[in-house]
Amino acid sequence: MADYPTLNLLIGGDTLAGGGRETSEVDNPATGETIGTLPHATAADLDTALDNAKAGFREWRDTSADKRAAILAKAAGLMKERAGDIGKVLTAEQGKPVKEATGEVMYAAMLLEFYAGEIKRIYGRTMVRPAGQRVEVQYHPVGPVAGFAPWNFPAINVMRKIGGALAAGCSTIVKPSEETPATGLALVQALLDAGVPGNVVQCVFGEPDAVSRHLLASPIIRKLTFTGSTKVGKHLAKLAADDLKITTMELGGHAPVLVFDDSDIDKTLDAMVGAKFRNAGQVCVSPTRFLVQEGVFEKFRDGFAERAKAIKVGDGMEDGTQMGPMANSRGLDSMEKLLGNAQEKGAKLLAGGSRIGNRGFFHEPTVLSEVPLDAEIMNEEPFGPVALVNPMAGEDAMIEEANRLPYGLAAYAWTNDPARRRRLAAEVESGMLAINGANVSAVDAPFGGVKWSGYGSEDGREGVMACMVPKTIHEG
Ligand code: NAD
Repeated sequence: MADYPTLNLLIGGDTLAGGGRETSEVDNPATGETIGTLPHATAADLDTALDNAKAGFREWRDTSADKRAAILAKAAGLMKERAGDIGKVLTAEQGKPVKEATGEVMYAAMLLEFYAGEIKRIYGRTMVRPAGQRVEVQYHPVGPVAGFAPWNFPAINVMRKIGGALAAGCSTIVKPSEETPATGLALVQALLDAGVPGNVVQCVFGEPDAVSRHLLASPIIRKLTFTGSTKVGKHLAKLAADDLKITTMELGGHAPVLVFDDSDIDKTLDAMVGAKFRNAGQVCVSPTRFLVQEGVFEKFRDGFAERAKAIKVGDGMEDGTQMGPMANSRGLDSMEKLLGNAQEKGAKLLAGGSRIGNRGFFHEPTVLSEVPLDAEIMNEEPFGPVALVNPMAGEDAMIEEANRLPYGLAAYAWTNDPARRRRLAAEVESGMLAINGANVSAVDAPFGGVKWSGYGSEDGREGVMACMVPKTIHEG
């Protein structure tokens, strides 16, 4: 791709590459061709970044709230101006349709804009005591933050790692995914261009485990924020525990969708099919286990399969593409393994089921029904374009199945019964629950999971407070 940028590290405001550093290749998932060469940080680079982050923390913490807010708002504006160009780069390295990619960059900018405003709403409190005495609760930034972001949302994930930290007054070192580095670099560059000091926001790459071990071994880093698989999250939480660093973990999901017979099935299908195949299903909140009340099961199942077959799969750069390729060949391998196992166990294939062609990493939108609970795909996050549609006897059984797995990120429910909605809000174990809708994310609302889907929140006021610690001052 002609416009794919030259890749580098951003350490102390300097653009670093070459110098005998190891490299890795970046591929376009629509073609499988290499489009970029990414330099990896050396141990010395990471030490420099840590020293910078220590100095940058003091500088940024002591910058007035007004000034920090103005700089972040300016950066958000630059991201919006550049969203079209960054969106194309995102599509080249990740695969999703360019309209979706541009929308993602806009969302990242809006999140930063929200955080910029929130800087002015960080309040402490004062407790009433006899004259001459008082107790005051202050909130302070926790210190330098390390953020590790995955490849499925190269813009939003990076912004979730750095936006709340910068708003809180922390310095940050972010490691976007080595598979989608240019989007994160573009966002960090916009922050630098807007006036964030080069030792306050830095961007590094490398072999993920080596980078995370190096950064987490340093006492300079006071908080870790990670988005990715539950397996890696548990590993990183253990590393962080050695130094009792605060952590935010946004991990895997296996979202249930409870479809009741009092819902509008056509409306439900229109919303849920779009949500399922967005980003080729590589979404932590992707609707996956469709638990459908028996009376509407056949209509829902057949309608889902029909709509899935009509989805236009293609290169994300092409007009009219509704679903791009999977982001990497691991996704195709995982789909093959899980779909094979499910069919061996007796699941019925209603749509798709196979890889498309040999160029790039395309896969058909796939629908399985009557999938046994012991199939691997009913227990492991598929992270691909596949819906699992099962008939359910009624409300109690649906809630029980929704809560069966150790995951609890997003859940969805479709019903017109107000009392049932209240029961679901109380009993479904998840960080987010969408009722009669497909959206579980908003810049001003917390985003995060329970159980094996992690802990801590990003977005909303909670995303800033997650990077702050209270200090209580007792006077008199
Ligand atoms: P993975 O678990 O190895 O990697 C996930 C992300 O974590 C990648 O961006 C990777 O660079 C990073 N990572 C891996 N090891 C790391 C380490 N030691 N330190 C720091 N970062 C590390 O696997 P994958 O093949 O990329 O994805 C596999 C599964 O991970 C998916 O099928 C999905 O279940 C899950 N995943 C979840 C999300 C999410 O948004 N929650 C995002 C990406 C992947």
